[in-house]
Amino acid sequence: MAGNRTLTIIKPDAFNSGKGGPIIAHLEKAGFKFVAARVMRLTEAQATAFYAVHRERPFFAPLVRFMISGKCMPIVLERADAVAALRKAIGATDPAEAEAGTVRKLYAESKERNAIHASDSDENAEREANFFFAEADLV
Ligand code: GDP
Repeated sequence: MAGNRTLTIIKPDAFNSGKGGPIIAHLEKAGFKFVAARVMRLTEAQATAFYAVHRERPFFAPLVRFMISGKCMPIVLERADAVAALRKAIGATDPAEAEAGTVRKLYAESKERNAIHASDSDENAEREANFFFAEADLV
């Protein structure tokens, strides 16, 4: 059965240009409840570890630089079928290809500076939630 939690990050491009509030409102309208949230600036070690799966990709170094360029907002979200529902709400990685009305179509600048992260599986959602939050924050 699909899980009911997922992890999002409002990325530095969006958070630092006044789009955090509108994105939070967008996610609430899409039916998500907020389980835990924080505002933080990732260290290089944290960004490198978070995106380790992409370490061989040509965009890895610029991606890490972008993710540590300013504050971001990791959030654990809850609703039925959370992972799939959030992926649908944010749209394709490249905003040029994202469907109308999705977070990335509305708020992203480019394929790299694309406003928001979303876990891609229940397993990664749990791992990513534990990356940013203590067990006590996730009850
Ligand atoms: P997501 O699951 O839609 O976020 O996409 P991926 O997991 O494939 O990639 C992680 C992040 O790396 C994306 O959200 C982008 O910020 C960045 N990224 C992915 N593909 C590219 C690319 O081809 N070029 C650049 N510059 N950045 C990319």
